[in-house]
Amino acid sequence: MISQGITILGSTGSIGESTLKVLALHPGRYHVVALSAHSNAVRLAEQCKQHQARYAVISDKNKAGELQTALDALECNSEVLAGNSALSEVVSLTETEAVMAAIVGAAGLEPTLQAVQSGKRLLLANKESMVIAGELFRKAASENNATIIPVDSEHNALFQVLPKDFDKGLNQAGVEQLILTASGGPFLHTERAALKNITPEQACKHPNWDMGRKISVDSATLMNKGLEIIEARWLFNARPEQIAVIIHPQSIVHSMVAYRDGSVLAQLGMPDMRTPIAHALAWPRRIEAGVERLNLADLHKLEFYQPDLERFPGLGLAFQVLEAGGNAAVTYNAANEVAVDAFLQRRIGFLQIASVVSTAMNRCKQGKIGSLDEILEFDREARDVAGQIIKSLV
Ligand code: NAD
Ligand code: MG
Repeated sequence: MISQGITILGSTGSIGESTLKVLALHPGRYHVVALSAHSNAVRLAEQCKQHQARYAVISDKNKAGELQTALDALECNSEVLAGNSALSEVVSLTETEAVMAAIVGAAGLEPTLQAVQSGKRLLLANKESMVIAGELFRKAASENNATIIPVDSEHNALFQVLPKDFDKGLNQAGVEQLILTASGGPFLHTERAALKNITPEQACKHPNWDMGRKISVDSATLMNKGLEIIEARWLFNARPEQIAVIIHPQSIVHSMVAYRDGSVLAQLGMPDMRTPIAHALAWPRRIEAGVERLNLADLHKLEFYQPDLERFPGLGLAFQVLEAGGNAAVTYNAANEVAVDAFLQRRIGFLQIASVVSTAMNRCKQGKIGSLDEILEFDREARDVAGQIIKSLV
Protein backbone atom coordinates (compact mmCIF):
# COMPACT_ATOMS: atom_id res chain seq x y z
CA MET A 1 0.00 0.00 0.00
CA ILE A 2 1.35 3.44 -0.94
CA SER A 3 0.99 5.97 1.86
CA GLN A 4 -1.11 9.02 0.97
CA GLY A 5 0.06 12.55 1.86
CA ILE A 6 -2.51 14.57 3.80
CA THR A 7 -2.54 18.28 4.57
CA ILE A 8 -4.95 19.57 7.21
CA LEU A 9 -6.05 23.21 7.14
CA GLY A 10 -7.18 24.05 10.68
CA SER A 11 -5.70 21.02 12.44
CA THR A 12 -6.10 22.48 15.94
CA GLY A 13 -9.90 22.73 15.66
CA SER A 14 -12.55 20.17 16.42
CA ILE A 15 -12.56 18.63 12.90
CA GLY A 16 -8.77 18.88 12.67
CA GLU A 17 -8.27 16.98 15.94
CA SER A 18 -10.80 14.33 14.91
CA THR A 19 -9.02 13.90 11.57
CA LEU A 20 -5.70 13.34 13.32
CA LYS A 21 -7.34 10.72 15.54
CA VAL A 22 -8.52 8.80 12.47
CA LEU A 23 -5.11 9.15 10.77
CA ALA A 24 -3.40 7.79 13.89
CA LEU A 25 -5.34 4.53 13.45
CA HIS A 26 -3.79 4.03 9.98
CA PRO A 27 -0.08 4.82 10.16
CA GLY A 28 0.89 2.91 6.98
CA ARG A 29 -1.93 4.29 4.86
CA TYR A 30 -1.52 8.03 5.41
CA HIS A 31 1.22 10.46 6.36
CA VAL A 32 0.91 14.10 7.30
CA VAL A 33 2.45 16.65 4.95
CA ALA A 34 1.34 19.89 6.63
CA LEU A 35 -0.75 20.98 9.60
CA SER A 36 -2.07 24.49 10.14
CA ALA A 37 -3.47 26.64 12.92
CA HIS A 38 -4.36 30.30 13.11
CA SER A 39 -2.75 31.11 16.45
CA ASN A 40 -2.52 28.09 18.76
CA ALA A 41 1.21 27.56 18.27
CA VAL A 42 1.67 25.24 21.24
CA ARG A 43 -0.99 22.75 20.18
CA LEU A 44 0.16 22.91 16.56
CA ALA A 45 3.71 22.03 17.64
CA GLU A 46 2.47 19.05 19.67
CA GLN A 47 0.49 17.80 16.69
CA CYS A 48 3.47 18.22 14.35
CA LYS A 49 5.65 16.24 16.75
CA GLN A 50 3.15 13.43 17.17
CA HIS A 51 2.32 13.12 13.47
CA GLN A 52 5.79 13.97 12.08
CA ALA A 53 4.49 16.72 9.82
CA ARG A 54 6.89 18.11 7.18
CA TYR A 55 5.44 21.61 7.56
CA ALA A 56 3.90 23.54 10.46
CA VAL A 57 1.87 26.47 9.14
CA ILE A 58 0.70 29.32 11.33
CA SER A 59 -1.53 31.80 9.53
CA ASP A 60 -1.04 34.54 12.13
CA LYS A 61 2.47 35.69 11.16
CA ASN A 62 3.09 37.17 14.61
CA LYS A 63 3.03 33.69 16.09
CA ALA A 64 5.80 32.23 13.91
CA GLY A 65 8.49 32.77 16.56
CA GLU A 66 6.37 31.16 19.25
CA LEU A 67 5.77 28.19 16.97
CA GLN A 68 9.49 27.74 16.27
CA THR A 69 10.25 27.88 20.02
CA ALA A 70 7.53 25.32 20.77
CA LEU A 71 8.83 22.98 18.04
CA ASP A 72 12.44 23.36 19.27
CA ALA A 73 11.36 22.52 22.82
CA LEU A 74 9.86 19.27 21.48
CA GLU A 75 12.89 18.57 19.27
CA CYS A 76 10.55 18.52 16.30
CA ASN A 77 12.03 19.52 12.94
CA SER A 78 8.86 20.42 11.05
CA GLU A 79 9.55 23.46 8.87
CA VAL A 80 7.72 26.61 9.97
CA LEU A 81 5.76 28.58 7.37
CA ALA A 82 3.66 31.62 8.24
CA GLY A 83 0.88 33.74 6.78
CA ASN A 84 -2.15 33.05 4.62
CA SER A 85 -0.12 32.51 1.46
CA ALA A 86 1.66 29.59 3.18
CA LEU A 87 -1.70 27.81 3.44
CA SER A 88 -2.16 27.87 -0.33
CA GLU A 89 1.49 26.88 -0.75
CA VAL A 90 1.29 23.64 1.28
CA VAL A 91 -2.00 22.70 -0.31
CA SER A 92 -0.42 22.85 -3.79
CA LEU A 93 2.66 20.73 -2.97
CA THR A 94 3.02 17.54 -5.03
CA GLU A 95 3.36 15.57 -1.78
CA THR A 96 -0.10 16.76 -0.70
CA GLU A 97 -2.54 14.32 -2.26
CA ALA A 98 -5.60 15.12 -0.15
CA VAL A 99 -6.54 18.25 1.79
CA MET A 100 -8.81 18.33 4.81
CA ALA A 101 -10.36 21.82 4.73
CA ALA A 102 -11.24 22.45 8.37
CA ILE A 103 -10.70 26.17 8.85
CA VAL A 104 -13.84 27.87 10.15
CA GLY A 105 -15.54 30.57 8.11
CA ALA A 106 -14.77 32.45 4.90
CA ALA A 107 -11.15 32.68 6.11
CA GLY A 108 -10.73 29.18 4.67
CA LEU A 109 -11.87 30.07 1.17
CA GLU A 110 -8.61 30.76 -0.64
CA PRO A 111 -6.58 27.68 0.40
CA THR A 112 -9.65 25.44 0.09
CA LEU A 113 -10.26 26.63 -3.47
CA GLN A 114 -6.55 26.30 -4.16
CA ALA A 115 -6.78 22.59 -3.27
CA VAL A 116 -9.36 22.10 -6.01
CA GLN A 117 -7.43 24.25 -8.47
CA SER A 118 -4.41 22.02 -7.81
CA GLY A 119 -6.46 18.93 -8.62
CA LYS A 120 -6.31 17.47 -5.12
CA ARG A 121 -8.86 15.35 -3.36
CA LEU A 122 -10.69 17.87 -1.19
CA LEU A 123 -12.27 16.67 2.05
CA LEU A 124 -14.59 19.58 2.69
CA ALA A 125 -15.59 20.48 6.24
CA ASN A 126 -15.31 24.26 5.73
CA LYS A 127 -18.87 24.66 4.47
CA GLU A 128 -18.69 28.47 4.41
CA SER A 129 -16.31 28.41 1.44
CA MET A 130 -18.70 26.25 -0.60
CA VAL A 131 -21.60 28.50 0.43
CA ILE A 132 -19.97 31.68 -0.82
CA ALA A 133 -18.08 30.32 -3.82
CA GLY A 134 -20.00 27.22 -4.88
CA GLU A 135 -19.95 28.10 -8.54
CA LEU A 136 -16.19 28.60 -8.54
CA PHE A 137 -15.70 25.27 -6.77
CA ARG A 138 -17.81 23.41 -9.31
CA LYS A 139 -15.96 24.99 -12.21
CA ALA A 140 -12.50 24.45 -10.69
CA ALA A 141 -13.29 20.81 -9.84
CA SER A 142 -14.34 19.95 -13.37
CA GLU A 143 -11.46 21.87 -14.99
CA ASN A 144 -8.82 20.33 -12.74
CA ASN A 145 -10.23 16.86 -12.29
CA ALA A 146 -10.42 17.35 -8.54
CA THR A 147 -12.69 15.28 -6.31
CA ILE A 148 -14.69 17.04 -3.60
CA ILE A 149 -15.89 14.77 -0.82
CA PRO A 150 -18.16 16.39 1.74
CA VAL A 151 -17.26 15.91 5.40
CA ASP A 152 -20.23 17.80 6.83
CA SER A 153 -22.19 14.84 8.23
CA GLU A 154 -25.41 15.56 6.30
CA HIS A 155 -23.68 16.05 2.97
CA ASN A 156 -21.42 13.11 3.56
CA ALA A 157 -24.56 11.05 4.20
CA LEU A 158 -26.09 12.30 0.93
CA PHE A 159 -22.87 11.54 -0.91
CA GLN A 160 -23.03 7.99 0.47
CA VAL A 161 -26.63 7.33 -0.61
CA LEU A 162 -26.60 9.07 -4.00
CA PRO A 163 -25.57 7.09 -7.07
CA LYS A 164 -21.90 7.57 -8.10
CA ASP A 165 -22.82 9.55 -11.22
CA PHE A 166 -25.11 12.02 -9.38
CA ASP A 167 -23.17 14.87 -10.96
CA LYS A 168 -24.83 14.16 -14.32
CA GLY A 169 -27.99 15.57 -12.74
CA LEU A 170 -30.31 14.68 -9.88
CA ASN A 171 -33.24 14.25 -12.27
CA GLN A 172 -31.40 11.71 -14.32
CA ALA A 173 -30.48 9.89 -11.10
CA GLY A 174 -34.17 9.63 -10.25
CA VAL A 175 -33.79 11.88 -7.20
CA GLU A 176 -36.83 13.83 -6.02
CA GLN A 177 -35.46 15.35 -2.85
CA LEU A 178 -32.38 15.69 -0.71
CA ILE A 179 -33.61 15.65 2.89
CA LEU A 180 -31.18 17.23 5.33
CA THR A 181 -31.71 16.25 8.94
CA ALA A 182 -31.21 18.84 11.69
CA SER A 183 -30.93 18.07 15.38
CA GLY A 184 -32.74 21.33 16.14
CA GLY A 185 -29.88 22.35 18.43
CA PRO A 186 -30.04 22.98 22.18
CA PHE A 187 -33.17 25.19 21.92
CA LEU A 188 -35.42 22.94 19.90
CA HIS A 189 -38.17 23.20 22.51
CA THR A 190 -37.35 26.64 23.96
CA GLU A 191 -40.09 29.31 23.69
CA ARG A 192 -39.21 32.32 21.56
CA ALA A 193 -39.47 34.66 24.56
CA ALA A 194 -36.83 32.66 26.42
CA LEU A 195 -34.48 32.64 23.41
CA LYS A 196 -33.85 36.33 23.98
CA ASN A 197 -31.70 35.74 27.04
CA ILE A 198 -29.63 32.80 25.84
CA THR A 199 -25.94 33.12 26.77
CA PRO A 200 -22.96 32.07 24.62
CA GLU A 201 -22.28 29.22 27.08
CA GLN A 202 -25.80 27.85 26.65
CA ALA A 203 -25.65 28.23 22.88
CA CYS A 204 -22.34 26.39 22.63
CA LYS A 205 -23.61 23.35 24.52
CA HIS A 206 -24.94 21.15 21.73
CA PRO A 207 -26.94 18.10 22.85
CA ASN A 208 -25.35 15.62 20.38
CA TRP A 209 -22.20 17.05 18.79
CA ASP A 210 -18.98 18.42 20.25
CA MET A 211 -17.92 21.23 17.88
CA GLY A 212 -16.12 24.58 17.57
CA ARG A 213 -17.86 27.66 18.99
CA LYS A 214 -18.96 29.25 15.71
CA ILE A 215 -20.69 26.17 14.33
CA SER A 216 -22.21 25.47 17.76
CA VAL A 217 -23.91 28.89 17.71
CA ASP A 218 -24.94 28.29 14.09
CA SER A 219 -26.54 25.01 15.16
CA ALA A 220 -28.45 26.78 17.92
CA THR A 221 -29.84 29.45 15.55
CA LEU A 222 -30.31 26.88 12.73
CA MET A 223 -28.18 29.18 10.56
CA ASN A 224 -26.00 26.08 10.28
CA LYS A 225 -28.82 24.28 8.49
CA GLY A 226 -29.32 27.36 6.33
CA LEU A 227 -25.65 27.24 5.33
CA GLU A 228 -26.04 23.51 4.70
CA ILE A 229 -28.99 24.06 2.34
CA ILE A 230 -26.78 26.33 0.24
CA GLU A 231 -23.85 23.92 0.56
CA ALA A 232 -26.08 21.09 -0.73
CA ARG A 233 -27.25 23.25 -3.63
CA TRP A 234 -23.67 23.49 -4.91
CA LEU A 235 -22.29 20.10 -3.92
CA PHE A 236 -25.11 18.22 -5.61
CA ASN A 237 -26.21 20.78 -8.22
CA ALA A 238 -29.70 20.78 -6.68
CA ARG A 239 -32.56 23.17 -7.36
CA PRO A 240 -34.09 24.89 -4.29
CA GLU A 241 -37.24 22.76 -4.42
CA GLN A 242 -35.11 19.61 -4.39
CA ILE A 243 -33.80 20.41 -0.89
CA ALA A 244 -35.79 19.86 2.30
CA VAL A 245 -35.00 20.01 6.02
CA ILE A 246 -36.45 17.81 8.73
CA ILE A 247 -35.82 18.02 12.47
CA HIS A 248 -34.42 14.79 13.92
CA PRO A 249 -33.36 15.35 17.53
CA GLN A 250 -31.35 12.11 17.91
CA SER A 251 -28.87 12.93 15.08
CA ILE A 252 -28.67 9.27 14.08
CA VAL A 253 -30.08 9.59 10.56
CA HIS A 254 -27.55 11.98 9.03
CA SER A 255 -29.63 12.71 5.90
CA MET A 256 -31.76 11.00 3.27
CA VAL A 257 -32.38 10.90 -0.45
CA ALA A 258 -35.95 10.45 -1.69
CA TYR A 259 -36.14 8.77 -5.10
CA ARG A 260 -38.82 8.89 -7.78
CA ASP A 261 -40.03 5.35 -7.08
CA GLY A 262 -40.87 6.18 -3.47
CA SER A 263 -37.66 4.75 -1.99
CA VAL A 264 -35.94 6.81 0.68
CA LEU A 265 -32.29 5.94 1.33
CA ALA A 266 -30.67 7.11 4.55
CA GLN A 267 -27.23 6.93 6.15
CA LEU A 268 -27.23 6.23 9.89
CA GLY A 269 -24.52 6.27 12.50
CA MET A 270 -23.56 7.62 15.90
CA PRO A 271 -23.13 11.42 15.94
CA ASP A 272 -19.35 11.35 15.68
CA MET A 273 -17.53 13.29 12.96
CA ARG A 274 -14.83 10.61 12.74
CA THR A 275 -17.25 8.55 10.62
CA PRO A 276 -17.65 11.08 7.77
CA ILE A 277 -13.97 11.99 8.11
CA ALA A 278 -12.89 8.34 7.72
CA HIS A 279 -15.33 7.91 4.85
CA ALA A 280 -13.98 10.95 3.03
CA LEU A 281 -10.37 9.90 3.61
CA ALA A 282 -10.80 6.35 2.34
CA TRP A 283 -13.53 6.71 -0.28
CA PRO A 284 -14.39 4.57 -2.20
CA ARG A 285 -12.97 2.18 0.40
CA ARG A 286 -13.94 1.89 4.09
CA ILE A 287 -11.58 2.14 7.04
CA GLU A 288 -11.87 1.92 10.82
CA ALA A 289 -12.94 5.28 12.28
CA GLY A 290 -12.62 4.41 15.97
CA VAL A 291 -16.26 5.27 16.70
CA GLU A 292 -18.84 3.67 18.93
CA ARG A 293 -21.13 1.35 16.96
CA LEU A 294 -24.79 2.18 16.48
CA ASN A 295 -27.17 0.00 18.46
CA LEU A 296 -30.72 0.84 17.39
CA ALA A 297 -32.31 -1.50 19.93
CA ASP A 298 -30.72 0.59 22.71
CA LEU A 299 -32.10 3.79 21.19
CA HIS A 300 -35.69 2.51 20.77
CA LYS A 301 -36.92 5.43 18.73
CA LEU A 302 -36.00 8.00 16.12
CA GLU A 303 -38.18 11.12 15.86
CA PHE A 304 -38.84 13.54 12.99
CA TYR A 305 -40.57 16.95 12.99
CA GLN A 306 -41.15 19.93 10.72
CA PRO A 307 -38.75 22.81 11.48
CA ASP A 308 -40.22 25.94 13.08
CA LEU A 309 -39.32 28.79 10.74
CA GLU A 310 -40.77 31.41 13.07
CA ARG A 311 -38.49 30.68 15.98
CA PHE A 312 -35.55 30.02 13.67
CA PRO A 313 -35.84 32.58 10.83
CA GLY A 314 -32.27 31.97 9.65
CA LEU A 315 -33.44 28.78 8.00
CA GLY A 316 -36.09 30.46 5.84
CA LEU A 317 -33.57 33.13 4.85
CA ALA A 318 -31.40 30.43 3.27
CA PHE A 319 -34.17 29.53 0.82
CA GLN A 320 -34.46 33.23 -0.07
CA VAL A 321 -30.71 33.21 -0.69
CA LEU A 322 -31.08 30.33 -3.15
CA GLU A 323 -33.85 32.13 -5.01
CA ALA A 324 -31.90 35.39 -5.14
CA GLY A 325 -28.60 33.86 -6.34
CA GLY A 326 -25.64 36.17 -7.08
CA ASN A 327 -23.93 37.55 -3.98
CA ALA A 328 -26.84 36.81 -1.59
CA ALA A 329 -25.05 33.80 -0.08
CA VAL A 330 -21.92 35.88 0.48
CA THR A 331 -23.96 38.45 2.39
CA TYR A 332 -25.84 35.80 4.36
CA ASN A 333 -22.62 34.10 5.43
CA ALA A 334 -20.55 37.23 6.14
CA ALA A 335 -23.30 38.91 8.18
CA ASN A 336 -23.75 35.70 10.15
CA GLU A 337 -20.03 35.42 10.90
CA VAL A 338 -19.95 39.01 12.16
CA ALA A 339 -23.16 38.57 14.17
CA VAL A 340 -22.01 35.29 15.78
CA ASP A 341 -18.77 36.96 16.76
CA ALA A 342 -20.70 39.86 18.34
CA PHE A 343 -22.95 37.38 20.16
CA LEU A 344 -19.97 35.43 21.51
CA GLN A 345 -18.55 38.75 22.76
CA ARG A 346 -21.93 39.46 24.42
CA ARG A 347 -22.46 42.57 22.29
CA ILE A 348 -25.79 41.37 20.85
CA GLY A 349 -28.45 38.91 21.97
CA PHE A 350 -29.17 35.49 20.54
CA LEU A 351 -32.26 36.53 18.56
CA GLN A 352 -30.40 39.48 17.08
CA ILE A 353 -28.10 37.17 15.10
CA ALA A 354 -30.78 36.32 12.53
CA SER A 355 -32.10 39.89 12.47
CA VAL A 356 -28.61 41.25 11.70
CA VAL A 357 -28.37 38.78 8.81
CA SER A 358 -31.81 39.66 7.50
CA THR A 359 -31.20 43.43 7.74
CA ALA A 360 -27.81 43.04 6.05
CA MET A 361 -29.43 41.12 3.21
CA ASN A 362 -31.86 43.98 2.69
CA ARG A 363 -29.19 46.67 2.86
CA CYS A 364 -26.36 45.16 0.81
CA LYS A 365 -26.48 45.87 -2.86
CA GLN A 366 -27.10 42.83 -5.00
CA GLY A 367 -24.84 41.72 -7.75
CA LYS A 368 -23.57 38.84 -9.82
CA ILE A 369 -20.36 37.12 -8.86
CA GLY A 370 -17.85 35.77 -11.30
CA SER A 371 -14.41 35.82 -9.74
CA LEU A 372 -12.79 35.19 -6.38
CA ASP A 373 -11.92 38.90 -6.11
CA GLU A 374 -15.58 39.84 -6.56
CA ILE A 375 -16.58 37.41 -3.83
CA LEU A 376 -13.96 38.81 -1.47
CA GLU A 377 -15.13 42.35 -2.22
CA PHE A 378 -18.80 41.49 -1.54
CA ASP A 379 -17.68 39.68 1.62
CA ARG A 380 -15.86 42.80 2.88
CA GLU A 381 -18.84 45.02 2.10
CA ALA A 382 -21.27 42.70 3.89
CA ARG A 383 -19.00 42.61 6.94
CA ASP A 384 -18.94 46.42 7.02
CA VAL A 385 -22.71 46.63 6.72
CA ALA A 386 -23.25 43.98 9.43
CA GLY A 387 -20.78 45.83 11.67
CA GLN A 388 -22.76 49.07 11.25
CA ILE A 389 -26.04 47.30 12.01
CA ILE A 390 -24.57 45.84 15.19
CA LYS A 391 -23.21 49.26 16.22
CA SER A 392 -26.70 50.70 15.89
CA LEU A 393 -28.06 47.93 18.15
CA VAL A 394 -25.63 48.22 21.05
P1 NAD B 1 -12.90 25.15 15.29
O1 NAD B 1 -13.20 26.54 15.69
O2 NAD B 1 -12.85 24.10 16.31
O3 NAD B 1 -11.50 25.13 14.50
C1 NAD B 1 -11.19 26.04 13.50
C2 NAD B 1 -9.78 25.84 12.95
O4 NAD B 1 -9.56 26.87 11.98
C3 NAD B 1 -8.66 25.97 13.99
O5 NAD B 1 -7.62 25.09 13.67
C4 NAD B 1 -8.19 27.42 13.81
O6 NAD B 1 -6.82 27.59 14.15
C5 NAD B 1 -8.40 27.63 12.33
N1 NAD B 1 -8.70 29.04 12.01
C6 NAD B 1 -9.62 29.83 12.63
N2 NAD B 1 -9.61 31.06 12.08
C7 NAD B 1 -8.67 31.04 11.11
C8 NAD B 1 -8.18 32.02 10.19
N3 NAD B 1 -8.64 33.28 10.18
N4 NAD B 1 -7.21 31.64 9.32
C9 NAD B 1 -6.72 30.39 9.33
N5 NAD B 1 -7.13 29.42 10.18
C10 NAD B 1 -8.10 29.74 11.05
O7 NAD B 1 -13.96 24.78 14.14
P2 NAD B 1 -14.57 23.34 13.78
O8 NAD B 1 -15.73 23.06 14.63
O9 NAD B 1 -13.46 22.34 13.67
O10 NAD B 1 -15.15 23.65 12.32
C11 NAD B 1 -14.31 23.78 11.19
C12 NAD B 1 -15.17 23.82 9.93
O11 NAD B 1 -15.84 22.56 9.80
C13 NAD B 1 -16.29 24.87 9.98
O12 NAD B 1 -16.47 25.40 8.70
C14 NAD B 1 -17.52 24.08 10.39
O13 NAD B 1 -18.71 24.64 9.91
C15 NAD B 1 -17.24 22.74 9.73
N6 NAD B 1 -17.90 21.61 10.39
C16 NAD B 1 -17.60 21.30 11.68
C17 NAD B 1 -18.23 20.25 12.32
C18 NAD B 1 -17.88 19.88 13.73
O14 NAD B 1 -18.40 18.87 14.22
N7 NAD B 1 -17.04 20.59 14.42
C19 NAD B 1 -19.20 19.52 11.63
C20 NAD B 1 -19.49 19.85 10.31
C21 NAD B 1 -18.83 20.91 9.69
MG1 MG C 1 -23.65 19.38 9.44
